[in-house]
Formats: sequence, C-alpha cells, structure tokens
Amino acid sequence: MSDAMTNTHRPILETRSLMKRFSIGTRFSAEGRRTVHAVDNVSLTVQRGETLGLVGESGCGKSTLARCLVRLYDITGGQLLFEGEDITGKSLNELRPLRRRLQMVFQDPSASLNPRRRVGDLVAEPLRIHTKLSSADIDRRVAELFEIVGLLPDHVARYPHEFSGGQRQRVGIARAIALNPDLVVLDEPVSALDVSVQAQIVNLLADLQEKLGLTYIFIAHDLSVVRQVSTRIAVMYLGSIVEEGPAEEVFSTPAHPYSQALISAVPVVETTSAGTRRRILLTGDVPSPLNPPPGCRFHPRCPIAEDRCRTERPEPKPFGAGRKVACHFPTI
Ligand code: SF4
Repeated sequence: MSDAMTNTHRPILETRSLMKRFSIGTRFSAEGRRTVHAVDNVSLTVQRGETLGLVGESGCGKSTLARCLVRLYDITGGQLLFEGEDITGKSLNELRPLRRRLQMVFQDPSASLNPRRRVGDLVAEPLRIHTKLSSADIDRRVAELFEIVGLLPDHVARYPHEFSGGQRQRVGIARAIALNPDLVVLDEPVSALDVSVQAQIVNLLADLQEKLGLTYIFIAHDLSVVRQVSTRIAVMYLGSIVEEGPAEEVFSTPAHPYSQALISAVPVVETTSAGTRRRILLTGDVPSPLNPPPGCRFHPRCPIAEDRCRTERPEPKPFGAGRKVACHFPTI
C-alpha cells in the first residue's frame, strides 16, 4: 500500500485504553491520599475531516479527556497516537512541533484570554512562538485571521473586556487556527453563550472546517448542538466511553441504557406513534470517580441491570455497522 493510501486511512488521532488518574489528599502523608479515576480505558479513533461529538453529564471526564488529547495533561496509562505516532510520553520539548497541528478552544473565552493584553497581540502570540515570520507578516496574518472569524480590522487594538462573549470566542478561535492546525479540540465552545450567538459560532466553526479541512472533537452537554455538528458521537459515563457510532444512528436508536436516558431528555419536534417520546428518568446520583462501582459502572442507575452487571465490567463490542457499545445487554 502506498504512503498516500496509508495516510488517507490512518486515523488522525487514536487513543488505546487511555487512562488519567489524579492523586488527591494531603501532601505530607501517603495515608489519606486517594485516586480519582477521571478517564478510564478510553479507546477512540478520530478520522481526518470528521467531527467527533463527545457527550455526557457534567463531571463525567469529558474535559479531562480533552486536555489529555492535546497533552495539556500527562497521561497515566494507555496510548495516544497522532497520525500513527505514539505521543503518550513525549516531553514538552518533543511536543513543540505538534502544538501547531493540535489546538484547543476553551469554554470560557474570558478565562483563556489574558485581560491585560490587546487581542491582536493574543492572536499573534502563537505565530511569534512557533514561526519565523517577520513582524509585518505576523500583522498581515492577524488581520487575515480577524477577517476569517468575522471580526473587524480595528478590533486588534482592543482588550478582551471590550468584546461580547461571542466576539471573545471568535478571538479564541482565531488564536486556535492561527497556525493552520489539523485537529481542534473544542471544549464546550458555545456553552457560555446566548442561544442566538451559539448558532453564529456553530456556523462559523462549520465554515472553517470546510474551508480549512479541519478535524474537530466537539465537547458539549447540549445534545441538540452536538447532533447538529457531529459526524460520529461518543457517549461518556464516569470516565469511560459507553457507546460510540455514527451520529444519526446513535441519536435515533441509542443502544446503551445510559445513551437512551441521555438522548430521551433532548427536546424533539417529531413524536412516536403514541404521540410523545418517552423520557427515561435515571434515579440516583453519578457515583464518585474516587470510588467507582465494580462491574458495569452504570449498574447502580441502570433500569435493566442484572446480577452479571454488578461483577463483570462490559468491554466495548461491535454493535451493527461502525458502532460499539459497552453493555452486556444492548438493545434498540
Ligand atoms: Fe445496564 Fe448491565 Fe448494560 Fe451496564 S452492562 S448498562 S448495568 S445492562
């Protein structure tokens, strides 16, 4: 097989049994230290040009996984591959050439932009660090980026507080695409914005994906937004992926009991033959990642749990074309 063919079919990003654990407790004694199982055994592939939507309740580990994927966090176990290259244990220095290809947009644009610096300067920063462009070329590139994301040329001289939330997110996006990345991890990019502004930012992201050939990992707790933008969906519960597959299939016929409950809560226009779509209400709280339940992690809240679920952890298994479900008894 030629290199070109191999590259076409190779995932741009892949995780193999990825794990992230945090140790919390006192600094002064090993006793009392506890482990947070934030990301547990996550295996995912992301193909070039697609949008993988990552959904799940807040606190399920989505944002921790996102930070592991761009190596803002060190990884505790498993592997992370970018275009087939294992980048799991690479040092900050070794990661430097990759930084320009792998970018992240954060939920709260105000928190990710230094309030004391002009936004033109903030967008120019990655160009100064990662390229050898002259000052004049950097100014030209910044002007071009402002135009691409729908900001005015004179906005470069303003400070972050002089912008609306939507405009600040446009600045965050300009910064993320400044170095022509291949993959952008978007961590709740529209959650802090008004609904009308959300639509503008989602449209901008879709335009940029088409024009620049970007690959996205789109994290959100608003399933309607994720459905609109995603090619595939991965559903996360307590640090693990419980279902993954083509977006429309997962949304129309979820197979994991947790996906079914999550998706049943999304308001829809269409109804079932009975006239309404049945909402599945889960009882109980999400268990603590400090002390995850044995067996299937969802069993304390699962409406169809059986004895086997309490002791035997289900591995993700193929379920129809292109779909995987981690459940002993998947149904649609
Ligand atoms: Fe429910 Fe058992 Fe499936 Fe877990 S493995 S989701 S407890 S049926």
